Amino acid sequence: MAASPEPKALDYDAIIVGAGISGLYQLYRLRELGMRVRVLEAGTGVGGTWYWNRYPGARFDSESYSYGYSFSPELLEEWNWAEHFAPQPETLRYLNFVADKFDLRRDIQFKSRVAAAHYREETRSWDVTLEDGSRFSTRFLITAIGPLSAPTMPRIPGVESFKGQSCHTARWPHEPVSFEGKRVAVIGTGATGVQTIQEVAKTAGHLTVFQRTPNWCAPLHNGKIGEEEMREIRAGYPEMFKRCQETFACFLHTPDPRGTFEVTPEEREAFWEKLYGEKGFGIWQGNFRDILIDRKANALISDFVARKIRQRVKDQAVADKLIPKNHGFGTRRVPLETKYYEVYNQPNVTLVDINETPIERITPTGIKTGGIKTSGAEYEFDIIIYATGFDAITGSFDRIDIRGAGGLKLKDKWQGGPKTYLGVQVEGFPNMMMLMGPHTALGNIPRSIEYNVEWVTGLIRHMREHGLTCVEARPEGVKSWTDHVKALGVGLLSNEVDSWMTGINRNVDGKQVRTVARYSGSAPAYRERCDAVTASGYQELRLA
Ligand code: NAP
Repeated sequence: MAASPEPKALDYDAIIVGAGISGLYQLYRLRELGMRVRVLEAGTGVGGTWYWNRYPGARFDSESYSYGYSFSPELLEEWNWAEHFAPQPETLRYLNFVADKFDLRRDIQFKSRVAAAHYREETRSWDVTLEDGSRFSTRFLITAIGPLSAPTMPRIPGVESFKGQSCHTARWPHEPVSFEGKRVAVIGTGATGVQTIQEVAKTAGHLTVFQRTPNWCAPLHNGKIGEEEMREIRAGYPEMFKRCQETFACFLHTPDPRGTFEVTPEEREAFWEKLYGEKGFGIWQGNFRDILIDRKANALISDFVARKIRQRVKDQAVADKLIPKNHGFGTRRVPLETKYYEVYNQPNVTLVDINETPIERITPTGIKTGGIKTSGAEYEFDIIIYATGFDAITGSFDRIDIRGAGGLKLKDKWQGGPKTYLGVQVEGFPNMMMLMGPHTALGNIPRSIEYNVEWVTGLIRHMREHGLTCVEARPEGVKSWTDHVKALGVGLLSNEVDSWMTGINRNVDGKQVRTVARYSGSAPAYRERCDAVTASGYQELRLA
């Protein structure tokens, strides 16, 4: 019998899909292990979210210094943040600085959108195919594709027919877009829409906002960081990062241990006034411990924010439209804003509530609304901006033809909601690791990313040290983690509300039913669970 041919060497030890915050850091760590790594990135540059989301007004909602990487003292020493909540260009500069500093670019292949990834059982490897047909083989497939990176356009007839300029916020052009004197429409009022609206309103000839569901927004209170302040921030880095490790969602803010009804009405009001006047997510993440689980507590804080909206918007009929009626404060992601509500006091801004006058179609010249109560209207625009969000968490996976052992499609495996082991692995998909996949702690994302990357790196290091070539989640591990994630969501008011966090996207088939794709426990608890797996020598995983 003829000897079987030598197996062909794999092209890479690891392929990382995506050169955003997680992909860059994973590359850095795997290189330290001496691995041959390739990052495949669809864009023409690094940055992921901050590469794609160039829309006007895009900026952090987490404090810049709490968002940057913490792993390199040198990097912390060298980089100065200019604003408490950095605008997108500053963040993109930062991520380019990181890529240059650690010489990451030489292992990143740009303009390379991954179309398919198929597992090969014979070689315990993955075949990765790009949209242009080129193919690579790799031992490990690491997805760094982000929870909010598959943009969705609204399903409105006529979108293609518009003759003016139109764009989804996550596909914003690299060239500057001027709104000076233009008639502009924005559809969508999530965190992205709010940032876009407040920026476009500064210069647009006329801005018309099409709102389906108002959100509870709170002031960002951004400001510049002077040299002296940056020195103080730098001196406080060790303490600040330690704090981020201890808080519930890795933000600087963490719930107040008191319950809403454990204080007097006067103390409550004073506390909320203080939070409303402070920077960042404090009013959402640093509020009384029960506002997101106790209906009565939630109704009170919602009433507080509603009063603020009424105070800030002059026309009370408009204010009323801007106050959410179908969900309480904080049960969806709270958009942070800078004079957002005041925008509606400007003569060049109109709010259209599309529940009263639904959008019937996009026309070659603008938007046509109809209505049961009113006759609707025909609006003419030069520019239409779609701030209509993402097919969140699982959407970026669904857009790649990922097939595990036996040709099983990930999309089929996840029918009815994702099933994962620690949010990192999927049974039947050996050697595939997910960074910021479903069921991982998100929160202040880079903090979670650093942990996620380090955990995956530790697992791969362990495999290499023990001559192991295959790692796979066990069914019982997946069941137990998925059940745990589901149980954590019980009782949370946010799980009773439609949003990307509960897997709803009315613009995507099959995403009309709520699923549990998000881990809603604390980041410290998540890390504790993962650390225990490491300490046990990864016994919960099937290693071969
Ligand atoms: P989003 O929160 O899902 O908001 C999408 C908006 O588009 C909603 O107002 C939605 O209305 C509306 N919409 C969708 N389809 C529509 C249609 N057919 N007709 C009319 N309106 C439609 O998406 P996003 O604003 O892009 O934000 C997603 C997440 O990204 C945020 O929650 C946040 O986590 C992240 N983000 C972060 C930052 C930051 O850190 N600075 C900035 C922006 C975004 P409904 O609510 O009725 O569905």
